[in-house]
Amino acid sequence: MNHDDLREWSKRAADWAHAYHAGLRERPVRPRVMPGATAARLPAHAPEQPEPLERIVADFEAIVPDAMTHWQHPRFFAYFPANAAPASMLAEQYANAMAAQAMLWQTSPAASEMEVVMVQWLRDALGLAPHFRGTIHDTATTATLCAVLTMREVATEHRGNEEGLTAQPTLHVYASAQAHSSVDKAVRLAGIGQANLVKVATDAEHALDPVALDAAIRADLAAGHRPAGVVLCTGGTSVGACDPIAAAIEVAKAHGLYVHVDAAWAGSAMLCPEFRQLWAGVDAADSVVVNPHKWLGVQFDCTVQFLADPVPQVRTLGLRPEYLRTLEHPSEGDGAVVDFNEWTVPLGRRFRALKLWFTLRAYGLDGLRQRIRDHVAWSHELAGEIAALPGARLVTAPVLSLFTFALESGDAATEALLRRINDDGRVYLTQTRHEDRFVIRVQVGQFDCTREDVMSVAQVIRELM
Ligand SMILES: *Cc1c(COP(=O)(O)O)cnc(C)c1O
Repeated sequence: MNHDDLREWSKRAADWAHAYHAGLRERPVRPRVMPGATAARLPAHAPEQPEPLERIVADFEAIVPDAMTHWQHPRFFAYFPANAAPASMLAEQYANAMAAQAMLWQTSPAASEMEVVMVQWLRDALGLAPHFRGTIHDTATTATLCAVLTMREVATEHRGNEEGLTAQPTLHVYASAQAHSSVDKAVRLAGIGQANLVKVATDAEHALDPVALDAAIRADLAAGHRPAGVVLCTGGTSVGACDPIAAAIEVAKAHGLYVHVDAAWAGSAMLCPEFRQLWAGVDAADSVVVNPHKWLGVQFDCTVQFLADPVPQVRTLGLRPEYLRTLEHPSEGDGAVVDFNEWTVPLGRRFRALKLWFTLRAYGLDGLRQRIRDHVAWSHELAGEIAALPGARLVTAPVLSLFTFALESGDAATEALLRRINDDGRVYLTQTRHEDRFVIRVQVGQFDCTREDVMSVAQVIRELM
């Protein structure tokens, strides 16, 4: 296969993509496949000789689509969305064509500079203060790891990187029990240790209690530990918990601690001023993560981390061996170019800013706001319908567009209902554990879903209850 073939097959792929998308509503959202079914259809070894594209593509069509969960299905209400707006898919095709590796300014000048500007566009669109700068990562997990590594280095005056942690007092990081598992992963990877992630008590609304945070920090100081930082959440993954950002940051800052706010899902909703009270006070954070690859419509992967001051993170993560130096342009001081690999874990980086640029322009902030407002309104309407079903009850009310419900007859019945719903395939929902009960999560946020798609969830539940 050469680039002439690529041109022809790209056109066929575009036609296939169009038909695939047009036919999504006819497919079950989650495939009816057993583990091992796909692997069993693949030969055990790679071919020694080239195979014709016709055969490869025919096999793709025969094997893959029916064994995929369709994340772009308009009746996908599971997890959180991983939306891919058509404009962002198109941008990925252009990025794909150039296939550049954007580790340094000089390896992709346009990619580096567009990343700077797109972070600013998004910052302003979300109503964040103008002092924030930032970078684009693959995932929120990486952004949170970067923030926790930075906390560690700030707390150890950058000795952790040099000497390891053995000579340091035990570092403690604070988060609520509603924090995403990526926070647990980050403290593990950062060498801080799971046991030193303090899960602070929450209130009746599942929000971190700032008084309990203060007490935990004071107790740790008295015990000779070294508090390193706080991770707060706006829109927790389980039930959408929102910590009191302003009050918690006030406590953290009184102790001189670094603060990272995880708004991976809910951050996109901050395009709409009426939702910004959910993270009121966020401008005092050191680091904020938002996933445009969830609700906003920018194809996975695209995570934006905003930084009040990038210097501690770059000092934590940046290395500049001779072979990575940019010779022609200053890399420090006025007029310096930005080498974004120094802001993150991997050296190699994709050109992710392009799809943010295409998406923000093709729909406009107003178009994106309208979608989010519709999703929130429909989610409330659906929650009302489900709450009215005899035998069902809402467990948590909608936070933005996420709510949970359960059957009054208990966990086993709720779980059995969820299995029936997902085997049926018309809609896709997932579960969480909340206050030690099995509950079904519903989030509305798929880029192309209609009010009718959303209301069909109530219909499916009614039929299968
Ligand atoms: C989705 C999510 C994450 C993890 O996101 P990835 O980008 O998949 O790593 C972290 N925190 C919250 C609140 C999330 O919703």
